[in-house]
Amino acid sequence: MTARGIDFIGHEDWLSSSPDLNPLDYKIWQHLEEKVCAKPRQNLESLRASLAKAAAEIDMNVVTPVIGHATIAAIRPLFEEWLERRHGVLTFRLTQVLTGHGVFGRFLYRIGREETAGCSHCEDRPEDTVEHTVEVCPAWAEHRRVLVAAIGGGDLSRPALVEAMVRSETEWDAVTTFCEAVMLAKEVVEREKERAAAFLPGRRGRRPGRRGLRRDPRPP
Ligand SMILES: [Zn+2]
Repeated sequence: MTARGIDFIGHEDWLSSSPDLNPLDYKIWQHLEEKVCAKPRQNLESLRASLAKAAAEIDMNVVTPVIGHATIAAIRPLFEEWLERRHGVLTFRLTQVLTGHGVFGRFLYRIGREETAGCSHCEDRPEDTVEHTVEVCPAWAEHRRVLVAAIGGGDLSRPALVEAMVRSETEWDAVTTFCEAVMLAKEVVEREKERAAAFLPGRRGRRPGRRGLRRDPRPP
């Protein structure tokens, strides 16, 4: 992941260790391929019909651990449209927003890279989630205004974003532009914090105890 400059998150903490894979599409297609390609098809129509059937019947238990419940909830109602779309590439930063696996306080705290799950861009430091970043955080108000103007409606929940993305290439691009700009800015701030923490005597730049130790941020 260092190729993308996200060197403060270990590659094992990402959905996929390869920055070039689109985990959402990759995992789903892999699953469909296994189901559909089990027997040979006579023609393209037959293959398409089988794919559509397999997509409708897909076992979400297979893909949920990889892409997360919130992402599944977002794409499920438009699953066929998502798979059959002719536009739209999932960029690295767009994937961060759809999955929540990225530079969000909640995720960084969970994997032991932050002391708290609070937002670094808000004074009162509310929990930094995908929803906080996309819908609420005042730091991204201008980017949000542009996004709302592009996709209309004002609903910026993940299902609404996916709906807009699938609807048209222009809207897909608008969501991508928002995610690229905001996530890049968050990455820059996070990297600066890591660097500053490294210079503070007696303070560690990152919490010890890698992944798995603090799955639940709530006190016992
Ligand atoms: Zn904030």
